[in-house]
Amino acid sequence: MLVPLAGALAALVTVALGACTMATAPEQPLIVVTTNILGDVITHIVGEEAEVVTLMRPGADPHSFEISASQAARIQSADLLVSNGLGLEEGLQQHLDSAAAAGVAVFAAGEAVDTIDYAAEDSTGGGVDPHFWTDPTQMITVVHAAGDAIAAAVDGVDGQQIRRNANAYASELEQLDAQMASAFSVIDMSERNLVTNHHVFGYLAERFDFTIIGAVIPGGSTLAAPSASDLRELVRAIERAGVSTIFADSSQPDRLMQVLAEEASLRVTVVPLFTESLTEAGGDADSYIAMMRANTIRITTGLGPTGPGNDK
Ligand SMILES: [Zn+2]
Repeated sequence: MLVPLAGALAALVTVALGACTMATAPEQPLIVVTTNILGDVITHIVGEEAEVVTLMRPGADPHSFEISASQAARIQSADLLVSNGLGLEEGLQQHLDSAAAAGVAVFAAGEAVDTIDYAAEDSTGGGVDPHFWTDPTQMITVVHAAGDAIAAAVDGVDGQQIRRNANAYASELEQLDAQMASAFSVIDMSERNLVTNHHVFGYLAERFDFTIIGAVIPGGSTLAAPSASDLRELVRAIERAGVSTIFADSSQPDRLMQVLAEEASLRVTVVPLFTESLTEAGGDADSYIAMMRANTIRITTGLGPTGPGNDK
């Protein structure tokens, strides 16, 4: 029975050689993306046309995450580097700067956005707010701009396919925007008040008529700490507005939110939202659209007619 065995081995060798041949096929263009929200969005636009590598891990903080030496090297070999920009990726800025200086093509999503400043009521100093993705219509603008940038900058992709993908995904985001507006419509205007861990929902507030009452962490970043007087001022603002539900970032420790919720004079419920990082696959926010839908449900439940502040 040696002969059939030899034949079988020969067949295996042939298969293995075939696999080798496929593995050495020309490499796909490489697009490196900083945040995992944009990683998901860019993957929808790119489809099968290029490899997309996302630097930020699920559940990480986009303000502070850092990368390994091998990831930094990957940036340098990218055909296109996609970042959020507007100062969001504070932990990555030196790598973004050195990639641009080395001639890597860069698309900063924030440059396509109709930006707003932080609500100037507290200590953010009124700088430009980088959290544009909380408004789906801003993301739609970014999707079209990113499609154009990929088609123009990345050799070897089918530009028409990229633009078809971008249009199809933008249509999904238009539906998302309409679904959010419809869901939020059950919340009375007097209840559309947002208190969050840090200032992440300025664009959502602008789009869907919410008022930003305040945030526990001062400034636009997560990399600051509130003073006792900051917290006292926020407690007063919450009391004045009659807020009953406040929102934490699921990717941040909610210790400060709990401290706030335990203030003797406040009766508030803390609800976690997915604010600026996707979850692992299978989680409630494993895509940009899933994240926005999950937050919409939680905000509507927290502030709407069935929310904790509206028990009759
Ligand atoms: Zn943030």
